[in-house]
Parts: sequence; C-alpha cells; structure tokens
Amino acid sequence: MSLPDPDCWLSPSARVGRSPIEGHGLFAVAPIPHGTVISRFGGRLVTDAELRQLFAEASTAGVYVDTLSIDADLNLVLPADVPHHAGNHSCEPNTWWADPCTVIARHDIGRGEELTLDYATITDDPDFAMLCRCRSASCRGHVTGRDWQLRDLQAAYGKHWVPILRQRIAGS
Ligand SMILES: [Zn+2]
Repeated sequence: MSLPDPDCWLSPSARVGRSPIEGHGLFAVAPIPHGTVISRFGGRLVTDAELRQLFAEASTAGVYVDTLSIDADLNLVLPADVPHHAGNHSCEPNTWWADPCTVIARHDIGRGEELTLDYATITDDPDFAMLCRCRSASCRGHVTGRDWQLRDLQAAYGKHWVPILRQRIAGS
C-alpha cells in the first residue's frame, strides 16, 4: 500500500456547518454526483500500541484523536484542525470508501445535505461504541467496532469498507 499523504483534502463542494445529528457536520454546498471524490484522508500511521498511548495522552490533555483503521495493527491518525473531524456518522450514509483513504458519494447528493459515513466501515476497534441519533429509518441506535460483522451491513456496503474490514469480511 502506498503511504497516505500527510494532510487531508476536502472537496470545495463540502463545508462544515451546524448538524442536526451532532454538533458540527459536513454539508454539500453544491450538488455532488454519485461517485464523486469528496475527501481524502491523510495523516500519520501508528500501530495499535502507539494509538492506545495517543488516546491515553489525549484524554489527559483533553484533546480529541481522530483515527481510522488501515490494516492489521496499522491506524491513520488525522492531523489536528482538519474539517474531516466534523464528519458525522449515519446508519444510512450518503458517502462511503472507494479506496483506503478516499471517500466518494454513495449516490447523488443534493445541495444542503449532510455528508455522512457509517463509522462501522472505519474501525475494527472492538472497544469502540457510541449512541446514534442519526434519525435514519435503519438507525441501529448504537454503533460499535463489531458492526462490520452484521450481514445486512456487509450486503449494503459491498467492498466499501476500509481494507482491514474488507479483508475480515472476505475471510468470515
Ligand atoms: Zn443511526
């Protein structure tokens, strides 16, 4: 796998705004056709042990570590102060993964729509859990690092998972 860029990229068609789901979110400021690249994630790669250390330091310092699983024992830690931190989860997301660090539109997205990703497709951390208030018809109520094992999600998202989860699903 090629190394991720040190920085993140966000389409000029996306912007941070107040979200009805949670705090701030990313919103389409122009129509975004199906398949369009919306964001590229970059940062630095760390092992699971390094990530646990970062989480421990961050909770002491009161800062937020934004991360996604790339491969077995390999995680991408996003730079601080990128708009990507604002991206919210939805159980019916309108964006999904095209390759390890690239997110594209899952279908045509209208101006003003919030851009969402299913966090189940991001993490293989078995300890990850959060309540969900995404209000979609298929809202799971809570999202966990084990949701990749759900057969209906595997069917709904096809190959659009981070690589480590795609491998696990193929092997399960
Ligand atoms: Zn939900």
